[in-house]
Amino acid sequence: MKGICILGATGSIGVSTLDVVARHPDQYRVVALTANGNIDVLYQQCVAHRPEYAVVATESKAEEFKQRIAASPVADIKVLAGAEALAEVATLENVDAVMAAIVGAAGLLPTLAAAKAGKTVLLANKEALVMSGQIFMQAVSASGAVLLPIDSEHNAIFQCMPAGYTPGHTAKQARRILLTASGGPFRKTPLELLPDMTPDQAVAHPKWDMGRKISVDSATMMNKGLELIEACLLFNMDPDQIQVVIHPQSIIHSMVDYVDGSVLAQMGNPDMRTPIAHAMAWPERFDSGVAPLDIFEVGHMDFEKPDLQRFPCLRLAYEAIKAGGIMPTVLNAANEIAVEAFLNEEVKFTDIAIIIERSMAQFKSDNADSLELVLQADSQARQVAQSVIEGLAA
Ligand code: NAD
Ligand code: MG
Repeated sequence: MKGICILGATGSIGVSTLDVVARHPDQYRVVALTANGNIDVLYQQCVAHRPEYAVVATESKAEEFKQRIAASPVADIKVLAGAEALAEVATLENVDAVMAAIVGAAGLLPTLAAAKAGKTVLLANKEALVMSGQIFMQAVSASGAVLLPIDSEHNAIFQCMPAGYTPGHTAKQARRILLTASGGPFRKTPLELLPDMTPDQAVAHPKWDMGRKISVDSATMMNKGLELIEACLLFNMDPDQIQVVIHPQSIIHSMVDYVDGSVLAQMGNPDMRTPIAHAMAWPERFDSGVAPLDIFEVGHMDFEKPDLQRFPCLRLAYEAIKAGGIMPTVLNAANEIAVEAFLNEEVKFTDIAIIIERSMAQFKSDNADSLELVLQADSQARQVAQSVIEGLAA
């Protein structure tokens, strides 16, 4: 029986994780659930899954939540408040696996704490890895933590790696990764219409049902840019060994090209419960609740080269990983600020890439050898991106 802590339980990945957990009560027990401020969903999850701990990261919402739990049939759940409690529950003695499913940089410290504590880290929170890079990978190898990718592409790549392979190592006979992308909702939108695309249009993803931030990232293809950096770190590859492939049907979730010419692909319906169940059961397998793939309904599959003019964010991600140092941190931070401004209707869709590019131009690829330097670059890049936004409005 394994104890699991779900960071970001109320989000899209968190909900899918609890769905998988509920299918395997003989193998997993929920030790802790965390949310930012969505206390209604967290409350329902507490009643259904009876964790030992529940964390509300937004302190102003925690008191109301505590009172609700105290007056409920699950009054024995310990309620903690604030960002520091996230790392506390991620490192509890009886937690074996931590699902890192907080969105954005807010997930870094608890995810890193889990890695340092030697937990099995089920990594959905790609921003945490992109911003901290080698620091995160070194924490994993130093503690002996097991790092398993949840991002569907990286989970697919992991499944296509040689037997016995674990992330962080080099698979010598694998010469290339083909990282698939759906192309998002604006793959065919006329370029001149892109500036007018609204947040609602951007989050209406054709294949995946996800949180708002990652949905916008999919529309700009920054999601693929972050995943490119994620793949370089997880699989120890150079950016030139990774080819992004637009595959609109989202049936192949990525491929690995071997020196003998074999190309291995992992396929399945686009449902995150498959990679979640794969990582939770690894090295075994168990049921995820996902329907079997109907290959006849799929019928055919298409593959296209990404257009970097349409998707400048993908170009910026290649530039950031090639420059190295703090540049991936800067890219990620500027993107988080730009996406938030877009979702608040303060900037246009096409401003997102402009904000990131102008922000990156104000940094040099200084070293990112300590967590302190990473956090400093993250906070400076947020300020710079904010001032770029103010400049656009002026
Ligand atoms: P979401 O917006 O649906 O959920 C985010 C979760 O994080 C919520 O539980 C929220 O309460 C919590 N959270 C947000 N800000 C927080 C903060 N400041 N402090 C503490 N908790 C906070 O997002 P999602 O779609 O579930 O994505 C989660 C992560 O997984 C992202 O990093 C995303 O890139 C990655 N991911 C998601 C999918 C997907 O299909 N949704 C696929 C691959 C990777
Ligand atoms: Mg993905």
